[in-house]
Amino acid sequence: MSVELLTIGAFARASRLSPKALRLYDELELLRPAQVDPASGYRFYHPEQLERARLVAWLRRLGMPLVRIRRVLELEPDLAADEVAGYWAQVMAETAARQDLAAFLVDHLKGRDTTMNSTPTALRIRYAARSDAGLVRARNDDTAYAGTRLVAVADGMGAQGGGDRASAAAIEALKQLDHQPPAGDLLNALEEAVARADASVAGLARSEPELPGLGTTLTAMLWSGSQLALVHIGDSRAYLLRDGELFQITHDHTLVQSMVDEGRLTLDEAASHPQRALLIRALTGGGTRPDLSLHTARAGDRYLLCSDGLSAVVPGDRLHTVLSTVADPEQVVQQLVELANRNGGPDNIACALADVTAESPS
Ligand code: MN
Repeated sequence: MSVELLTIGAFARASRLSPKALRLYDELELLRPAQVDPASGYRFYHPEQLERARLVAWLRRLGMPLVRIRRVLELEPDLAADEVAGYWAQVMAETAARQDLAAFLVDHLKGRDTTMNSTPTALRIRYAARSDAGLVRARNDDTAYAGTRLVAVADGMGAQGGGDRASAAAIEALKQLDHQPPAGDLLNALEEAVARADASVAGLARSEPELPGLGTTLTAMLWSGSQLALVHIGDSRAYLLRDGELFQITHDHTLVQSMVDEGRLTLDEAASHPQRALLIRALTGGGTRPDLSLHTARAGDRYLLCSDGLSAVVPGDRLHTVLSTVADPEQVVQQLVELANRNGGPDNIACALADVTAESPS
């Protein structure tokens, strides 16, 4: 007994895909017709192909790129479900970063923006930075920096070493922003600096072929007036202490964080997961799209940037206590490093602290 094949028109109606889309999916090998008439070139589809076609249609409605749809279709249902959930977690993280940017642009276009009106504000930052090898690692691959306009931390990596040079190169590429205020837009300046940092890592990898897998995380803040631009890639973190509350204002680019976002892992499980350090994004010299956002700083705000050598071993409530009870920035970073080491110091530690104050420069 033979099953009646559907014409492309009938199949298109049943699957809610257009014949044009079906022809494209055929060319991309996402959905091949069951039969093509050799004389006319007409495509015919088997009714059992409807399920796959509808899945393609739904994934398109989700906005998933065709290459990624192809991957989903090749997977067993369980793994395909993971792939869709992972895609959506990524969309949500990117949307959150874009939300801040959109709010800034709305303000800017309505003339409410304070960065570009060059109204001088009296906000200054007091700052401190410290990096420490910890108690277990022989080398320190972390780099921390703090200056009058810029604070940054980077956690370098390399399969055969060289992580220290990768993190130092990335920070070095940002430093000129500290010495020379950006002429134009703060975000553009920071994004360009990150592209330079990425190019530095690429240059290092080219000149040191015996050091494979070079890369670094990068989390940095740049101030201008009351605006601050935040750039972030990897699993270092930025925290804000405001009105006595501590907020984590970056999103870890780790496999476990994406599993938490998908509801497949609790925060506690993530903290003890054997692969918690596995990054899904880092600065590796291959061109990058970091998270970028703009924030309005207030006098009294305290910002902490740190590598996972601190955040993985010192619980949030301990961070909160130190940040809200110790006034002097130098003492804060010193105590945080000590806390990480008292908890075993299993990894390198980097912290940079910035206090926003209304006082004028001395
Ligand atoms: Mn680390």
